[in-house]
Amino acid sequence: SVVLMQKLDVVLFVDKSGKLFQAKPVSRDGAPLPDPNQLMNALDFPSLKTRMGAETVGLPGLVLLPDGPMIVGIRPVLTSDGLGPCRGWVVFGRRFGQFEVTKLGRLTHLNLLVTRLNGADILSDALISQRVRGAMKGAYVEPLDAQTISAHGILTDISGRPGLLLTVQQPRIIYRQGVETISYMRVLFLAAGIAFSIVILFVLERFALARLFTLSSQVAEIGEGSGIGAVTISGRDELSGLASRINDMLVQLRLRGQEIEHLALHDKLTGLPNRALFMDRMKFALAKAQRTNLGVGAIFIDLDNFKLVNDSLGHASGDDLLNAVAERLSNTVRPGDTVARLGGDEFTILLEDLGSVQEAEAVARRILQSLRKPIRLKDREAFASASLGIAFTVDPATPSETLMKNADTAMYRAKVNGKSDCVVYDESMNDYAIERLELETDLRKALDSREIFVHYQPLIDLASGTLEGVEALARWHHPKRGLVPPGEFIPIAEETGIIFPLGYWVLEEACRQAVKWQAEFNLTDFSMSVNLSGKQLQADDVVERVSDILARTGLAPRSLTLEITENVLMGKRDEGAEKTKRLRQLGIKLALDDFGTGYSSLSTLSMFPINTLKIDRAFISRLGDEEESTAVVESIIALATKMKMDVTGEGIETEFQRNALRELGCHAGQGYLFAKPLSASDLTKVLVDGAADPNRPHVAGLSGDPLAA
Ligand code: C2E
Ligand code: CA
Ligand code: CA
Repeated sequence: SVVLMQKLDVVLFVDKSGKLFQAKPVSRDGAPLPDPNQLMNALDFPSLKTRMGAETVGLPGLVLLPDGPMIVGIRPVLTSDGLGPCRGWVVFGRRFGQFEVTKLGRLTHLNLLVTRLNGADILSDALISQRVRGAMKGAYVEPLDAQTISAHGILTDISGRPGLLLTVQQPRIIYRQGVETISYMRVLFLAAGIAFSIVILFVLERFALARLFTLSSQVAEIGEGSGIGAVTISGRDELSGLASRINDMLVQLRLRGQEIEHLALHDKLTGLPNRALFMDRMKFALAKAQRTNLGVGAIFIDLDNFKLVNDSLGHASGDDLLNAVAERLSNTVRPGDTVARLGGDEFTILLEDLGSVQEAEAVARRILQSLRKPIRLKDREAFASASLGIAFTVDPATPSETLMKNADTAMYRAKVNGKSDCVVYDESMNDYAIERLELETDLRKALDSREIFVHYQPLIDLASGTLEGVEALARWHHPKRGLVPPGEFIPIAEETGIIFPLGYWVLEEACRQAVKWQAEFNLTDFSMSVNLSGKQLQADDVVERVSDILARTGLAPRSLTLEITENVLMGKRDEGAEKTKRLRQLGIKLALDDFGTGYSSLSTLSMFPINTLKIDRAFISRLGDEEESTAVVESIIALATKMKMDVTGEGIETEFQRNALRELGCHAGQGYLFAKPLSASDLTKVLVDGAADPNRPHVAGLSGDPLAA
């Protein structure tokens, strides 16, 4: 009894109305005495009474006191026959502080950490909140660094609120191990709680010592995981009742353990394996490949425009779509292969026993195909398309993380290629990704460091051969790389938002230059064309900014043509129609760039107030080679003429192309045949020559910029 009393820090007697009747703090190794009132507050007897209900054995639990957690056992005081009415309660408390945690850690050889939770932390600290939310659903595992993972579990306090966060740090070998450990820790704590209740029983009623000893040692053994699945005790009294209760709890714990394991390794929405399980299986697959000499493949799948579905149709439809995709993916692979969901709209597939990368590609193609069929949602049909990246290895030493990363990189490339496609990883892609990142960093500085400038490419009247105007094209002179083509930096600028300062800087520079040329050479009809990115057009302030620049530079609106691409207009048609109308109201002109490469038909074009169609270079270069492109160009020109639009042919490189276009009725042309993009000073020379001979600007003789080589 003395030994047992030494394990207690406080004993409270509470009357049947829930008021403290007497408190007996127990001094333990000079530790400060706990404050009984604080313990009473934390216990919250009014609500505890209803939760305990007809409890006759006692309730073990955890309370958080200001000076540290405490394990308590609450035992009703009954009549001697063990039945009601309840006359009050006895509460036994034992501190569970750093000292005990350290001891437990040493005992179990685990790197154990206990963090006290309070409501404010859970709400305000994103990391803690994530862990608690994860741990409330089961064991929550997260990587700590390259070698270690940490697993988190929650111990709730006596009123069911998250009380302590148990954290076990484990070598990263297998995620599951961490999950098991945290489940094991929970069992251990529960067993400690049960054992504590038994202590209370002993102190209170002095039951048969020997039997109690069997029971508590069995509980302890279960806690240590030595394999006993249940406790056994003979007799038909309270003690055997307790034994059967313990057994019930153990069964529940075991079920819960399985549940925890399933939750920890599967995606809740689709039921597919999650990243942890996927990576685990990949490791096994790679290990197996050593024996079979066959390859392992990973396919990384990211749905295209999923955010759009989610935003426009709602989350429930988004979930339905993900489930449908999960099902199609599962139906497309062989039974031995693993389909997993990483979260969001990302899925992965593990392919084992592959003879070659072509087999993985075949699976990827089947997936693209299967996604092409419409997906039935509650009230509508939707289409899912996805971008797929494939990585393949025959080298079992390939780290699984690398294989995943490579598949991810290839997927990203598929996105860049225009989505709904699959791409096989190759090593150059890594360089590409790094290079792109570097370019992005440098581009942010480029405008301020005056590395961006503008070249001008003449637009020629095909009938007369005279200069109509120029198109402004952005150039970037990178201090180390030299001239970077706009095809490389404009997409980065668009993705990062740099396009706004960049695009408007080009516009202002071009307008200023146009005013200069008009004044110097008395060219009232000279027009300046400037490219306007879709990002710029979509922003609310586009009309305002363009009109500001016109006002600042003094360029007459009718001398400015903005070039936009058709896809931008087709995306949000009403908005596009409204914006283009307002731009036209400024008095400027609009040209549709790269026409023929997008999805628009000429009839939908009538929605927009467009002045000029620029036929894409691709059609021009095939003129004469293919009957078909000649027919396409012919019909574009015919229809445009009917709609009172001008037509400009882009990328004219040969006399043949020029003549063909002229005969088909195309009014203007642009291309290396006439001139490459030129610096402002080179174009000034052209204008000087043109002033001498107004019918033939001698532009072809100038070399133009190195991009046009
Ligand atoms: P784009 O608007 O279609 O510009 C025409 C492109 O075709 C220019 O490439 C030009 O150098 C090239 N080109 C002209 N004639 C010929 C020819 O005879 N043969 C061949 N093979 N190519 C010819 P560049 O300068 O590399 O520009 C590429 C794209 O970058 C432009 O295509 C435009 O979409 C974009 N871009 C350039 N500057 C800007 C800008 O300031 N703002 C925005 N938003 N985009 C820009
Ligand atoms: Ca253009
Ligand atoms: Ca173009």
